[in-house]
Amino acid sequence: MDFSTLCIHGNKDKYENTGALSVPIFQTASFAHPGVGQSTGYDYSRLQNPTREHLEKIVAKLESGIDSMAFSSGMAAIAALMELFSPGDHIIVSDDLYGGSHRLFHSVSMKNKISFDFVNTTELSQIESHIGTNTKAVFVETPTNPMMQVTDIKAVSNLTEKHKLLLVVDNTFLTPYFQKPLNLGADIVVHSGTKYLGGHNDTLAGFLVVRNHTLSEKLRFIYKTTGACLSPFDSWLLIRGIKTLAVRLERQQESAKILADWLLAQKHVKKVYYAGLETHPGYEISKRQSTGFGAMISFEVDSEETAVRVLSKVSLIQYAESLGGVESLITYPMLQTHADVPREVREAKGIQEKLLRLSVGLESVNDLILDLEQALEE
Ligand SMILES: *Cc1c(COP(=O)(O)O)cnc(C)c1O
Repeated sequence: MDFSTLCIHGNKDKYENTGALSVPIFQTASFAHPGVGQSTGYDYSRLQNPTREHLEKIVAKLESGIDSMAFSSGMAAIAALMELFSPGDHIIVSDDLYGGSHRLFHSVSMKNKISFDFVNTTELSQIESHIGTNTKAVFVETPTNPMMQVTDIKAVSNLTEKHKLLLVVDNTFLTPYFQKPLNLGADIVVHSGTKYLGGHNDTLAGFLVVRNHTLSEKLRFIYKTTGACLSPFDSWLLIRGIKTLAVRLERQQESAKILADWLLAQKHVKKVYYAGLETHPGYEISKRQSTGFGAMISFEVDSEETAVRVLSKVSLIQYAESLGGVESLITYPMLQTHADVPREVREAKGIQEKLLRLSVGLESVNDLILDLEQALEE
């Protein structure tokens, strides 16, 4: 079955022979047992719930994984992932990282004596030179947030395989529609399902997807023990969102390319970071490892005043955090997603007062251009 069909028919379980096209929301905390020592397969909704299970089976299939776990947010998924590690362990992480992941690693995991090196994972030698005897994993975001740097997943996986490290890829920006890290050698895929998978800016969710049974067993144990599971209703919203994932992304990407080209021609715009531009340093790798470039654009304007003006004048495009939904959103990474990243680290990456990040939604691209045009005007 093709991807777009799997988004709708990825799990064929039928419920109670009603013929219902939509999966029921099993709003129950617990399940009755048929007899002593017997189970229907469901005992308690923290461990498993039929609505959530339906969603997890679809997401596992879309990512070519053997299992997926649905969490109450992307950060809940990454926090659970960190429970795989013990005091003394070392992890190599992309230095251009979602701000919340940076805060978790820096403020919570480090307190638990897990150490990190934040390196430019687009350069293999940088990863290799940081591998030590206690290194356990490499955590990569690609393309990165917000600078859109592209890491060669296959090349990194050759390295992690050689050194017996886990490779974790945060696939939030491209989704399995455009990129399947497990097929490129990653062991675990992370998602903020809040973004493209849900797709409507209305639900928080997160996922871990794994490619082997050992990891599935370990993470399922952590999952049921720590308890940040996705509710039945939110699972249903994600199932509904995923049904249109392929068409949404196709259209969002089309508009993003038009907008990136348009932005390049504006006098107040100095740089455009979009992996789908041939001048982008990650363009060739993207073409090799992904089937698309996504719909996230960062751009640098000529001054802080212009940046502030754009943020206050946009009217159709909303000045708000988050990304990947039907509504186009613009953010100021310096003050929002990356506010907790130390200034030197942030600025070394180019995240400064002139940088804006745009998540292209599903509005008409002409209306988006008109809105940006009037916002850029003095
Ligand atoms: C939003 C985001 C997260 C965190 O997910 P939440 O659902 O907001 O908790 C993690 N990684 C990336 C790349 C994100 O964009």
